[in-house]
Amino acid sequence: MIIVLFGAPGVGKGTQAALLAERTGMPHLSTGDAFRQAIKAETALGKTAKEYVESGRLVPDDVVTGIAREAIMQPEYANGCILDGFPRTYVQARALDEILAELGRTVGKVINIEVANEEIVQRMLKRGRKDDTEVVIRDRLAIYNAETAPLLDYYTVAGKLLSIDGNADVETVYERIAAALG
Ligand code: AMP
Repeated sequence: MIIVLFGAPGVGKGTQAALLAERTGMPHLSTGDAFRQAIKAETALGKTAKEYVESGRLVPDDVVTGIAREAIMQPEYANGCILDGFPRTYVQARALDEILAELGRTVGKVINIEVANEEIVQRMLKRGRKDDTEVVIRDRLAIYNAETAPLLDYYTVAGKLLSIDGNADVETVYERIAAALG
């Protein structure tokens, strides 16, 4: 089963993906974490990703789909995985479908975590990450609305979208996700 955790930046995708991974044993693939590690280790990928990640813009689709493809093809992902922060554009969603089709698999469910915009800004400011200044947060939300939110229709039409009210504490949101996944 491939589960996609979807939602605006700051809704708790990473936290919920990590919990889901810990409690189900499914591996967790976060493209954001992959970029942050690459930047820290100063790899070629890190050098490419740095200016995008730090300014809150999207890393180009070919770079992102390349690392997602490589990861998903690994044997430890053969029994499913939790995707966190990928796909974020229509091009990435189509690429994901193609990668999975090559493996004879498909996206199972897309969990859309919904949180009000002002609450998102407050949560991200508390997180204190380098790309969490107020200006960058507002830009990231605008990019989400323009480029990523349209995927909600894509996955609704595919019958895969499960929307979850994310305006609650971590455990409550987790229970909602677990209940939705059955
Ligand atoms: P995240 O940890 O998911 O909030 O991602 C942090 C940053 O990594 C984003 O603001 C983007 O710059 C970059 N990033 C992560 N995932 C993607 C993706 N699927 N497409 C493009 N950029 C991404």
